[in-house]
Amino acid sequence: MATDGRSSAVWLFDLDNTLHDATHAAMPGINAGMTDYIVEFLGVGRDEADHLRRVYWRRYGATLLGLVRHHGVRPSHFLHYTHRLPGLEARVRGHPHDVAALRRLPGRKIILTNAPRAYAERVLDALGIGGWFDALVSVEDMRMFGQLRPKPDTRMLRRLLAALRVRPAACVLVEDTLEHQKAARAVGTNNPPGRGAEPPPRKTTGKPGVRRAAAWAAGTRCEGWA
Ligand SMILES: [Mg+2]
Repeated sequence: MATDGRSSAVWLFDLDNTLHDATHAAMPGINAGMTDYIVEFLGVGRDEADHLRRVYWRRYGATLLGLVRHHGVRPSHFLHYTHRLPGLEARVRGHPHDVAALRRLPGRKIILTNAPRAYAERVLDALGIGGWFDALVSVEDMRMFGQLRPKPDTRMLRRLLAALRVRPAACVLVEDTLEHQKAARAVGTNNPPGRGAEPPPRKTTGKPGVRRAAAWAAGTRCEGWA
C-alpha cells in the first residue's frame, strides 16, 4: 500500500472507443485510408484491398501487422498515410464529466493505444484531457526485437509493466476490445469486467470510458489502492 497518500495503482487507458467515440470521429476515415493505401501501394483492386484489410485485422489484431509481414510495408509510412484525417478535431466528442472522473481516480494514468502518436495527441488535444495523463504509449513505442508488438501482445504488456515498475495486480487496463482485455488479464492485471458475458472474440464491449472506470474503482479494492 502507498504510504505517501498517493496510490501506487497504475491505470492504462485505451484511446479509441474508450476515451472517445472513434466509431463516429475516426474509424470510417481510417478504414477508407487503409483500403486506399493497399490499392495504391500493393496494386490491387478496391474489393481485394478491402478483403485484405479485414483478413489481416482478424488474423493479427491489426491490419498493419499483416501488411508488414506479408508485403514489407514500412509502419511509419502506413500510419502517416492512414491517419491524416482532415477535420478530425471537429468530429471528436468527449464528455464534460470525464475530467471530474479522471481527477477522482487514484494513481498514475497512462494512455496505451495501438494508434500512432500524432493521431493520439490530436484526439487528446481535441478532448482537452491530455494534461490529466502521466504518459502516452503509442504503437511506435510497442517495439520488441525490431518488430511491432501492439496490443494484445502479452510480452509487450509484461515489458511495459516492468518499465513502469508496477505489479500486475496494481494495474488496471480500461479498454473496449475484448482481445486486449483478455491479454491484460493473462498477465495478471486487475480490470473492470467487460459488458455482458463473454461475447465472441474481436467484438468490442462498447465504451467503458473514464466514468465507468471511476465507478468501478470506487467500489473495488485493488492492490496498490491508496
Ligand atoms: Mg479501443
